[in-house]
Amino acid sequence: MTIQTALLSVSDKTGVLDFARALHGLGLKLISTGGTAKLLADNGLPVTEISQHTGFPEMLDGRVKTLHPTVHGGLLARRDLPAHMDTIKAHGIPTIDLVVVNLYPFEATISKPGVTFEDAIENIDIGGPAMLRSSAKNHHGVTVVIDPADYATVLDEMKANAGATTYATRLALAKKVFAHTARYDGMIANFLTRLSNDGSTENARAYPDVLTVQFKKVQDMRYGENPHQSAAFYEDVLTAGVPKGLLAGYTQLQGKELSYNNIADADAAWECVRQFTDEPACVIIKHANPCGVAIADSPLAAYQKAFKTDTTSAFGGIIAFNRTVDAACAEAMSKQFAEVIIAPAFDDAARAVFAAKQNLRLMTVSLGDGQNPLDIKRVGGGILAQSPDTRTMSEAELKVVTTLAPTKDQLRDLLFAWRVAKFVKSNAIVFCKDGMTVGVGAGQMSRVDSARIAAIKAANAGLEIKGSVVASDAFFPFRDGLDVLADAGAVAVIQPGGSMRDEEVIAAANERGVAMVLTGVRHFRH
Ligand code: 5GP
Repeated sequence: MTIQTALLSVSDKTGVLDFARALHGLGLKLISTGGTAKLLADNGLPVTEISQHTGFPEMLDGRVKTLHPTVHGGLLARRDLPAHMDTIKAHGIPTIDLVVVNLYPFEATISKPGVTFEDAIENIDIGGPAMLRSSAKNHHGVTVVIDPADYATVLDEMKANAGATTYATRLALAKKVFAHTARYDGMIANFLTRLSNDGSTENARAYPDVLTVQFKKVQDMRYGENPHQSAAFYEDVLTAGVPKGLLAGYTQLQGKELSYNNIADADAAWECVRQFTDEPACVIIKHANPCGVAIADSPLAAYQKAFKTDTTSAFGGIIAFNRTVDAACAEAMSKQFAEVIIAPAFDDAARAVFAAKQNLRLMTVSLGDGQNPLDIKRVGGGILAQSPDTRTMSEAELKVVTTLAPTKDQLRDLLFAWRVAKFVKSNAIVFCKDGMTVGVGAGQMSRVDSARIAAIKAANAGLEIKGSVVASDAFFPFRDGLDVLADAGAVAVIQPGGSMRDEEVIAAANERGVAMVLTGVRHFRH
């Protein structure tokens, strides 16, 4: 069916003039609302004002423009039902075949600092979503475009198709509309249910009463955590105005398709490595836990140190860098089996080295400052949502509680160990020395066992832990954990403190000649 009439009503006027010009060139009649009509008319296009079309003025400061049976009848009438067509004819309602609408910028409005309640309310579009929904419901006969990125596709198709669009395109555009209006309404609900009933935006709560979240599929996965589970990867389009974080912005340069576990581990690796900004760092992740982390003068040296922590576990690991990977670093990594390597960039020589390993997945991710606005965990029948753990620690915040204070070098290692511990599943015990991990105890149900495992792993790797420092993600409930660390040769410990038995633990540290600093901050990770 040749498209004869288009209704254009857009807030985001990007590309609309060229599109309208091309539609006019194809012989379409153009109907439009206030601002859009003015833009078209000012540029010499013949356009019928909506008020002329409906016989009613736009009114109430634009709140009522297109909400009229002449518009909605023309959109909703089923072209395949003679009764419908007779009805609109009897009422003198012409059909509208193409609708070009995008909505009042609610998202941009509420993202503005200090937005007022009134401003937000005025930016709730009413007529736009109504037209979008009418058109999308009746996509059998109506083409509806919300995204300026689709203007070219629609035009090309009309040109190739005697002025008509295909059903497949109309259905695809209709799906896009309902996803869009759902997100739009979701944002309104999230915004409003954060406010108390006096409408004050100043005291808005962080968590709305009803959290409407939309996720957009990035890809289907071959399988989930295990081959008998199915899976897909979704990008969240959760909150207005938040910079995109994490894997939303990655590029895969080579290698097999990323698996569910690859993405989960790559995320952990990237989050961990990007906290090191001052010097080159390398993080090797295995099953969501760091099995080697190091900082050094070059990516190569950082990798070599990180790998040394646990050469056994590094097999099949995910390796992340905060600097461009060069050929020397690539050569060194080629000797081990890795699932994924992530870096802000790989230089050409490094790419050439990896070209021989076509299955190896290489990802570039900018380190950015994007952050998921909410950390979400699925539980039976619901979700737990929290702000992400972005807490960092500075030297000035540390409280020395032992007679012995850590040396300058030990302090540097303590802060390094603390940063790593945040990314180790609880209970976390991390031995470090000279800017590298030397033993990582992860995911144990008791702190003392984590301490023992970390010491055993260091011994297995043939690493010297005498003179090392240790981070513990939460307090020591008893002195036993501290004793294990001292037995292994640790000389300084960083931990939150706050246990009922802090005194006992501090006394043990003094007795064993271990320096201890408290952070007052805990980093459980489950
Ligand atoms: P214009 O700049 O053309 O005056 O206005 C375009 C905007 O008005 C579009 O974002 C469109 O969704 C919106 N719009 C169209 N009809 C109505 C209506 O009847 N009521 C309201 N509130 N908005 C409308």
